[in-house]
Amino acid sequence: MALRTIRTDDDPCLYKVCKPVEKFDARLNELIEDLFDTMKIADGAGLAAPQVGVLRRVVVIDAGEGKVELVNPRIIKKEGLQRGYEGCLSFPGQSGYVERADHVIVEGFDRKGKKHTYDTRGFFARAVQHELDHLDGVVYLTLATEPPADFLAEQQAEENNI
Ligand code: ZN
Repeated sequence: MALRTIRTDDDPCLYKVCKPVEKFDARLNELIEDLFDTMKIADGAGLAAPQVGVLRRVVVIDAGEGKVELVNPRIIKKEGLQRGYEGCLSFPGQSGYVERADHVIVEGFDRKGKKHTYDTRGFFARAVQHELDHLDGVVYLTLATEPPADFLAEQQAEENNI
């Protein structure tokens, strides 16, 4: 088990477009293992390779539905809308309101080069979109907006519903 240092805040690695993986080799295997270990220790639901300084298109996710690794991932379908707050291991202590698609179908390869397709919804879908953005140098803070009034009203209603 090896932990890698998570890059934070204004680290340039967080703002670059990553290159596709070309070799499914021992180095990729090690990177994916380290991403899972680092994500777990940091108590995150997802981690992208650029967050540990590797500018390649690799992410790992565990949004409560098992461990998922995606190499050279691609979103093939996006629909619906979910509204909510999210945070990021690269921006500790912060959170922001981000609107995302609620249903996302993503395909990608595992470390052995086998192709997988995941049909994701809710938090899993949010995590997929957040992590794939990292591969294009997009951090969620640039997508965050003020929560709309009707969203806040709904939250209020939930809190009052005892
Ligand atoms: Zn993130």
